Amino acid sequence: MSRPCYITWLQFDKAWHLIRTVSIGYVFDMPTKNLTAVLYKINDLRLEDRPVPEPKEGEVLLKMGCVGICGSDVHYLVHGRISDFIVKEPMIMGHEASGTVVKLGPNVKNLAIGDRVAIEPGVPCRKCSFCKEGKYNLCGEMIFCATPPVHGNLSQFYTHAADFCYKLPDHVSLEEGALLEPLSVGVHACRQAAVGLGSIVLVLGAGPIGLVTVLVAKAMGASKIIVIDLMQNRLDIARNCGADITYKIETSDSVEKVCKALTELIGEPPTTTIDCCGVQTTACIGIEITKPGGTYVLVGMGANEVKVPLVKTCIKEIQIKGMFRYCNDYPLALAMVAKGNVDVKQLITHTYKLEQTLEAFERAKTGSGNPIKIMIYCNQ
Ligand SMILES: [Zn+2]
Ligand SMILES: [Zn+2]
Repeated sequence: MSRPCYITWLQFDKAWHLIRTVSIGYVFDMPTKNLTAVLYKINDLRLEDRPVPEPKEGEVLLKMGCVGICGSDVHYLVHGRISDFIVKEPMIMGHEASGTVVKLGPNVKNLAIGDRVAIEPGVPCRKCSFCKEGKYNLCGEMIFCATPPVHGNLSQFYTHAADFCYKLPDHVSLEEGALLEPLSVGVHACRQAAVGLGSIVLVLGAGPIGLVTVLVAKAMGASKIIVIDLMQNRLDIARNCGADITYKIETSDSVEKVCKALTELIGEPPTTTIDCCGVQTTACIGIEITKPGGTYVLVGMGANEVKVPLVKTCIKEIQIKGMFRYCNDYPLALAMVAKGNVDVKQLITHTYKLEQTLEAFERAKTGSGNPIKIMIYCNQ
């Protein structure tokens, strides 16, 4: 019995599908394989083949470029949850990402096939009062990559809202595109703190977010940047990022001891403290040391509850500000990278292929080799 010819064709060509997207001067063979990193449950991360998604209205299909591993990814891997976000179903990892547009969904006008883009991983509802007021990072209906139950983009192919993709100029790399995600957090933190010319900025914690905050504060004109951390290697990188003063603390150090040492080192109180740890010690340091009338911005989600000398914030008129992710910050982050105001590439300490994702996460988990930013190449 003869079979329909298309089945014969599919058998013949296992890797590539017949569907072809043709645009002017560009031919894309729709792949059938989509290697994807899926977190099933605590310490159960798997690489598996998933279907290549179809871009819906207003979406683009992206051939993924780079995806950075974030502390939150590792947290889900190790603890299965962050606050009320719990991994109940298998979830695709990854949210610090870039890619190349390979197919347009209906009504996409801002991008063309072949564009390389940075992916802003959170897409809000666009309808609620927060969205309308331009504070879309506070949208209650936010769909955010790799925050359960929403899938991330650590895969070969992925679809995303086209208006949350930012076209990269030719001289900005896909690595830099992926790093716009943490960089945007730094931009948002410095904007919340109104960092500018003359600011004296104390950054508490020199992990990836502390380091991007240093980069941004420097680019925004801060006249003095001070960074504290437990690890000397991170402080060394902070220096390269633009920190003027670094101070290594010990876990046993008291708030008084750190504040005294910092006051001697800086010579004047910081106008702005950006806390990228968010634990009791750093919160207390921030409130104790920030100049009266200054600002303390909490970025790090360290401890759920801390005890702080609250009355001092009253007497010193210190503004305590929260901040969450980013909002309209990608364009500035991209402009800074494109103009050469910040060098984010120096944060990449380790690189892996998608096939080596489990190894990459093992390094992120154990911290062996003191990684800052681990970058995974999805199509190499
Ligand atoms: Zn992240
Ligand atoms: Zn909304």
